[in-house]
Parts: sequence; C-alpha cells; structure tokens
Amino acid sequence: MNYEDLANLIFPDAKDIEYYEEKYKRRELPEGAIVTRYAPSPTGYAHIGGLYQSLIAKKVAMQTGGVFFLRIEDTDQKREVEQGVERIVSSLQDFDVAPDEGQINDTDEIGNYGPYKQSMRKEIYQAYAKYMLKQGKAYLCFCTPEDLEQIRAKQEAAKVRTGYYGVWAHCRKYSVEEMIEKVKNGEKFIIRFKSPGREDRKIKHKDVIKGNVDFPENDQDIIIIKSDGLPTYHFAHAVDDHLMGTTHVIRGDEWLSSVPLHLQLFQEMGFKAPKYAHIAPIMKNDNGNKRKLSKRKDPEAAVEYYKEEGIPATAVKEYLLNIASSGFENWRRQNPTVPMEEYNLELNKMSVSGALFDMVKLLDVSKIVISKMSAEEVYENALNWAKRYDSELVEMLEDKEYALKVLGIERGNQKPRKDIAKWSDVKENIVYMYENKYKNIEYPYQTINEKEDIKKILNLYMEKYYNENDDKQTWFDKIKELAEELGFAKEVKEFKANPGTYKAHVGDVSTVLRIALTGRTNTPDMFEIMNVLEKDTIERRFKMAIENL
Ligand code: GLU
Repeated sequence: MNYEDLANLIFPDAKDIEYYEEKYKRRELPEGAIVTRYAPSPTGYAHIGGLYQSLIAKKVAMQTGGVFFLRIEDTDQKREVEQGVERIVSSLQDFDVAPDEGQINDTDEIGNYGPYKQSMRKEIYQAYAKYMLKQGKAYLCFCTPEDLEQIRAKQEAAKVRTGYYGVWAHCRKYSVEEMIEKVKNGEKFIIRFKSPGREDRKIKHKDVIKGNVDFPENDQDIIIIKSDGLPTYHFAHAVDDHLMGTTHVIRGDEWLSSVPLHLQLFQEMGFKAPKYAHIAPIMKNDNGNKRKLSKRKDPEAAVEYYKEEGIPATAVKEYLLNIASSGFENWRRQNPTVPMEEYNLELNKMSVSGALFDMVKLLDVSKIVISKMSAEEVYENALNWAKRYDSELVEMLEDKEYALKVLGIERGNQKPRKDIAKWSDVKENIVYMYENKYKNIEYPYQTINEKEDIKKILNLYMEKYYNENDDKQTWFDKIKELAEELGFAKEVKEFKANPGTYKAHVGDVSTVLRIALTGRTNTPDMFEIMNVLEKDTIERRFKMAIENL
C-alpha cells in the first residue's frame, strides 16, 4: 500500500492534474502584462475596501495590457448570503470597475479560466489534493474538534505556539496503511498539507507594496480540504491563482502573514508563485484615533452608501486613487482635464500603512468632478439618482428645458459653480428656482435690514432699473446706480475710504436683491438667476418679500 493507493481511495474519480494544466493554457499576453483579480467572499456586504482593491487591481492590469478578473470565494458556505454575488458584481459595475473575466451575475460568467466561483471548482481542488496525497505531501487527519481542543490546551499549558505542527501534528504519525484502514472503517477525516517548514528558519519575501519582509518559515500543517470536501482559502488560492494565471495577488494586508504558507504551497505543488502586493486598509480618524473603516460603525464603509448619497462614481474613484497613491494629487493638479485612467499607478509607490479616509476631501473632489460636467450630464445623473431615491426631485426635473437652464447657471464657464457634491444636494441647491416650492421664506436680511430701506431698494429696482434685456455689465452698473440713488456707496472702495459716510454699499444692496429673490444669502450668479426666473417671477418674489417685512 502506498500514497497512490490512498489518493485513489479518497478521490477515485478525480482527474490527473495534467488535464487541468493542459485545459487552462498559460495566457498569451504582452511582456510585462499584469494579471490580477478581486476575490471576495459573497457575504452580502460590499465594503469600500473591496472597491479600493478592485480599482487598483483593474488599473494596473489595464496599464500593462493585462487582465483583471473576479473570482467568487464561496467555499465557506456558512457565510453565504442570498444575492451576495449580485451585490459584488453590481457594485463593481456601478463604479465602472467591472472585470474582464469572471462572474457577471450569480449564475453567468465570462472568460476561459472558469469556473470563477470556487464552489463550482470542487473537482479541480480534489484533483490537486489527490496529487498532493500521491506524493505524500498531504495526509489525512482524523482529529475531532475535541482532540484539537486538547492539543491546544496542552500547548497553552506548555506555553508554546498553538496550531497543528511538528510533534503536535497528531495524525502525521499514521502510516499509509493505518490511514487507509481508518477510512475503510468509516472514520471521518479532513486533508492536511504536510509542511516541510521549520519555524527556526527564516524566509525573505519582497512584497510589491510592503517591500522586504522576513518571516519564520511556515510549519503548520494547515487543512487543505475540509470535511465538506471543499478547500480552505489557502489551498484554493494556490490552485486558482496558478490555473488562472494570476501574476500579482493584490489583496488586503491582513493576508501578509500568510505569505510564508502560500509560498510554501506554491513551492510544494510545483507552481510558480505570483507576486504579492498587500494593500493597507482604509483608515478613519475617530477623535484622534486611527482605526479601520468599520462596517458596523461607519456608513461610508459600505459601497451602497455612495450610491444612495449620489456621490458620482468618478469622484469616489478619483478620491480612492488619491489615497492609494500620493502622486495622484499632484498629477491631477497638473492635468486637470485628463481622465484618471491615464494616470499611471505604481504599486511599489503605494502607501505601506493605512491611508486616511476623509469624507470632506472626498466631497471636495466630488464638487470638482461635478463642476466639470455639462448641465445635461448633471441633469441625467441627478434624474437617475432621483428616480431611485427622491420622487420630489423627479417631479422638479420633469420640465427638462427649464431644468437645464437652472442647472446651467454658472456652468461651462471658466469658474464653474462648485456647490454640488452629490446628487442628493441638487434639490436643496435649486429648489428656490421653482415657484411651486418657493413659499414661507424667512428672509435672513443682513447689513441692510430696515424695512424702509429694503422696500425702497426692491421697488426702485423694479420700477427704474430692471430690464430683462440687459447684459451683465449693464445689469451690474444699474445696481450701482440704484445704490447711489438711495444713498449707499456705489463702490466698496468708496465705502471703506469714508467710514461713517454711508450706511452700506453696493454689495449690501445686491444682497437685499438676492435675499428677496431667493431667500438665501449665498447663491450662484444673480444675473444668471434673474435671467432664468424672468420678470414675472422676480416681481412676484419682490412683492412677497415686501409683504413679509
Ligand atoms: N476571499 C479572500 C477575502 O475575502 C480573498 C483574499 C485574496 O484576495 O486572496 O479576503
């Protein structure tokens, strides 16, 4: 009896690995092309960290003429939730980081290296486990949970490392015959890797992001096939990334400490190991403490959040690139209009420790992104968002021609308006442009706040100075004249030079007009607003303001 017999007994139907090695041909790609992947477990929650990883992985693949694929790691079936896969797929699609290969929904996939869902690859893992068994590089373990608990208790009492290794690896002692006999007796087993490592020896690893790291060798006989016949993450990672031709494993740095094990698995299976790039997690400043963005505490940890708030995908991605790579901000400053796809992201220049996520900065990026959009683009985006989240806004946007005028205020010029950070801001930013929404304003009058003054300004402006055909310069000159006629300083300079002479200046007069017109102290360009609102509305609003004095 030998290992071959054991392997055949456990996996009588598994194919030789040559079959798979032949079936999944090495990829033919240009020199230097990076093949990478995003490999989430479908837990039903799409974390922004996953989008961050995918964005980076897709970017480096695209930059080098490589491939980015999506693999669903669903071997822990206890953690599965309904629609988990759909959610992952749609979160990538929403942000335009859809993979070149892999799952495209729960049941379908594209690409030649599938199945891309681990639960569908059972026979592949079993073939490779059989291959390991045949060579005596894996063995059966019959330990029950109680046995493992006992080992652990002994290790704790002896104050040594816990785990299944060396002398503690209880089932290593069985001969092939003993293992076969136990199986024939119906004893339950799992399959373990027989680690050739020694803890007192070191390995050197050069991580693409973290740089040089030294680790003790792995000596743990980790489980490769569980009792349900499915592989553990470690084993599946080695088999899949080998067969799928991954050149760079870009993943969260919680896996960095598994590198010695993974390299050993690749080595023992006779595969070329990929390069590893371990990404630091996105952090948050929580009252001075730096901590990981948390699913439980931070709504912004969920990819859904950005969609619900209506923060454009481009803005989120720009910001994520910003925190991924310190060079991006500078590049963006120098290339304000170039699409971010053209920025060259270098993995080895990414930050080694966790980058801080700052919502205020993200919203600033978003304001800039939206400021560069045409009125039409803002309209389409806001409408799409509103259809899902705000029926009142849908109704406001119904008259598209008018909406485009409103959204076109201070847009498409040298210094476009930057007051919209997310689609959920749109309503609040344009509501005063809608007559049926404009009611019961509490007028926040400022420097000029006496009834008589306000009344005079509004009345005289309408009677004498307003003309809907004026160009901007004439319009403004007329406000100066109005100020002068009512005894306010025509120029701010003049006002400052002669304190005490004037009650207020032309700017304050404009403020009165602005407040009476919009109910706000802060708006985009008033000339443009007046053009959109038109005479009747302006008159009605001024009348209403006077009545409310
Ligand atoms: N399924 C693993 C996870 O969810 C993937 C790690 C990897 O990218 O290899 O963290």
